[in-house]
This record gives sequence, C-alpha cells and structure tokens, in this order.
Amino acid sequence: MEWSAEDKQYLRSKIRDVEGFKPGIVFYDITTLLKDAKAFGFLLLGLTKRYASYKLDYVVGIESRGFIFGAPLAASLGVGFVPVRKKGKLPAATLSEKYALEYGFDEVEIHRDAFADKAKARVLLVDDLIATGGTAEASLRLIEAAGAECVESCFLLNLVACAGKKRIESLAPVFSVLDI
Ligand code: AMP
Repeated sequence: MEWSAEDKQYLRSKIRDVEGFKPGIVFYDITTLLKDAKAFGFLLLGLTKRYASYKLDYVVGIESRGFIFGAPLAASLGVGFVPVRKKGKLPAATLSEKYALEYGFDEVEIHRDAFADKAKARVLLVDDLIATGGTAEASLRLIEAAGAECVESCFLLNLVACAGKKRIESLAPVFSVLDI
C-alpha cells in the first residue's frame, strides 16, 4: 500500500517538531502521533497492508522507538519480533556492531541465536526515523551476521538532507512513509 499525499499530510500533522531539545536540530516527536489512537492505528494498518505479502519471518526493531512501531506490526503480521538493543542490555550470547557518532561511537547488539530456528529468515527492519543511517547500517550488519536476510528497512521519517537512505541502500531496500 502507498499512502496518498493527503494521508501523508495527515500523519505528518501528528508529529510534533521540537526545537531546542538537542542543540542545532529539529527533534521529531512521535509521542503526539502515538497518543492519537486513530493516527497510530492508521499507520499500523497501512504498514500491515504493505508488508502482508512480503512473506516475512520476523520484524526487527531498533531500540527504543523502533520497538514501538515494530512490535505491534509484528503481532498484526503474525510474525515474531526481534530487538536490536544498545550494548549490554541483552542477556544471552550476542553479536555486536560499533558505529561512529558525531562525537565518539555507539554499539548495538542482537542475540546470536535470534534467527537460529529458520535458515535465511526474511526480516523487516523498523525504526522511527533515519538520519545519517549509522544506526540502521549497524543493525543491517547484525541481521546479516545472525544469518538472516533483510528484505526491507522501514522508517516512519526519512531526513533526506542527512542522506541515510543513500548510505544503506546497497545493504537492503529502504522504505519511508514520510520524507522531510
Ligand atoms: P541515525 O543513526 O543518524 O540515522 O539516527 C537515527 C536514530 O536517531 C533514530 O533511532 C532516531 O530515533 C534518532 N534521531 C536522529 N535524529 C533525530 C531527530 N531529528 N528527531 C528525532 N529522532 C532522531
């Protein structure tokens, strides 16, 4: 399913732009969309329709806002949910991937056996927003290292000027509901 220009405008109107939360950036606040039952339901229904035919085995969500969209989407698609978490949060054996930030680096992890029950599991990666693509790129590397295939990565928001979509396009197809 593709959202019409009107649908996109509706979803965009539910996201609050916050200036001054972090220096120099507009922070896109999705809590205003989440607390609107109609808007949140409309987004999830659209994503469910889009991915119903993808023959997915799992939805992978990136901590923490990727969980908010990824987990209910997995449940409505009837597939499992796998979290990618910040370093040190997952209890069993993990694979980890470092990625550079503007200052320093960060690290994300996935359980080593996350996809062990299915050869070449077909997964969808979900997060709320893609900016530079660093977090998504590290997550895609984890999915590959854990033996699964990412058939698409999906974001509610794509900050076009940050070029994250271009950065990860060679690793997996990218879909964003809203381009800003
Ligand atoms: P990046 O790795 O640069 O693509 O950053 C993506 C992650 O940072 C996502 O998990 C977003 O939730 C968060 N993020 C980055 N920029 C913003 C922004 N302007 N507003 C809200 N969240 C952001």
